[in-house]
Amino acid sequence: MTWTMPYVAPAGTRLALRDIGVGLARGWMDGSADANLGQALCRLSDSAQAWPFVSGRAAMTFALRVIAQHAGSGRNQVVVPAYTCYSVPAAIERAGLVPVACDIDPRSASMDMEHLVRLVTGPVVAVISANLFGIPNRLDEIEEVTRRHGVLFFDDAAQAMGARLAGRPVGGFGELGLYSFDKGKNISTMQGGALLARNGPLLEALGDAYERLADSNARDTAATVAKLPPYAVLLNPWAYAIVRRLPMIRLGETRYEMDYPLTRLSRGLAGLAHRQVGRLSGYQAVRVVNAAALRRELQDISSVHFVEPPASAEPVFPRFPIRADSRGMRDRMMVSLNRQGIGATGFYPQALVDVPEVARRMPVGGHSFAGAREFADTILTLPTHAHCPPGLATRIREAIRLA
Ligand SMILES: *Cc1c(COP(=O)(O)O)cnc(C)c1O
Repeated sequence: MTWTMPYVAPAGTRLALRDIGVGLARGWMDGSADANLGQALCRLSDSAQAWPFVSGRAAMTFALRVIAQHAGSGRNQVVVPAYTCYSVPAAIERAGLVPVACDIDPRSASMDMEHLVRLVTGPVVAVISANLFGIPNRLDEIEEVTRRHGVLFFDDAAQAMGARLAGRPVGGFGELGLYSFDKGKNISTMQGGALLARNGPLLEALGDAYERLADSNARDTAATVAKLPPYAVLLNPWAYAIVRRLPMIRLGETRYEMDYPLTRLSRGLAGLAHRQVGRLSGYQAVRVVNAAALRRELQDISSVHFVEPPASAEPVFPRFPIRADSRGMRDRMMVSLNRQGIGATGFYPQALVDVPEVARRMPVGGHSFAGAREFADTILTLPTHAHCPPGLATRIREAIRLA
């Protein structure tokens, strides 16, 4: 066996084994663990209701199905940012609706407002935000446009739990919101998520449908729980260095998947999520400090650009994104960083309009999607989690300068 140097994972939530045990045990013993988690998430997001699901994409699929049932005839489109998680168009397709891409401004990663205003005049039922890297989109402006056109706004905070814009929680704009507890999000139960809702008439329909929703499958839950201790250990750079070399572990791959369970979250995992929600501000403080150090170290490198949040934003940075001048430069930076044992990633490899499974069903309408394509080509994410060793930002700066 060759010597391996430590490798800093791209993202994660640092969990002690004890926290996993205590969180799961409390969830299993407490008959109302999911209701308690729901209440905590309502407070966090200023929502009227929050329902836990087996995954964020399950929550989104469930909500879009209810929306589809109540949509006026012929209205079947859902507007999504042209650069976001592939699970979003997959959920739209599974709900029998049609994803329509809105270009993004690569400087902010938020939707191009002119393009959005044109798209919402079509047969649109909802608009979905992205808030990638915990950086708020221009949510107040999107909310205003959707209200004006009588379209639902679904504020996707899968990566932005705890972030704020203009003093309001991300995930809390518009009528609906989403949190995810997957690997690499702001808190992690390996798999899990929650749907947030505020709007009157929809609330009842969603609540009724949730009543009829199946409980999580016991075997799936056992498989997820079994992965939690290795996940906690693996975020440690020494362990991660060994495991990332194992070919059967496809770490951080982005795939378009349609086949995922649609159930509630198990009580044990709800207990664990609740325990982590209580510690969110602690996780967040570490990530925000690490992100600020990266910004400071990289600000005078002319080939590095930042993703700029709106003026009143409080981002949370489960990863810290930078943009390179070109795809070639981004790829060289990534190789140089990886060689130094730093988990830099190119994030989602393509704009949605270039993902074959999505493009197949998406009306493109002659738009160039220059913003989303440039973003996909040049984005690079850097780690911010609590297992980042001291001095990492300086090492990252050196590795980028060598690229
Ligand atoms: C992760 C993610 C989702 C889906 O959440 P899962 O819990 O992984 O199903 C949706 N939207 C965005 C922006 C995400 O990052």
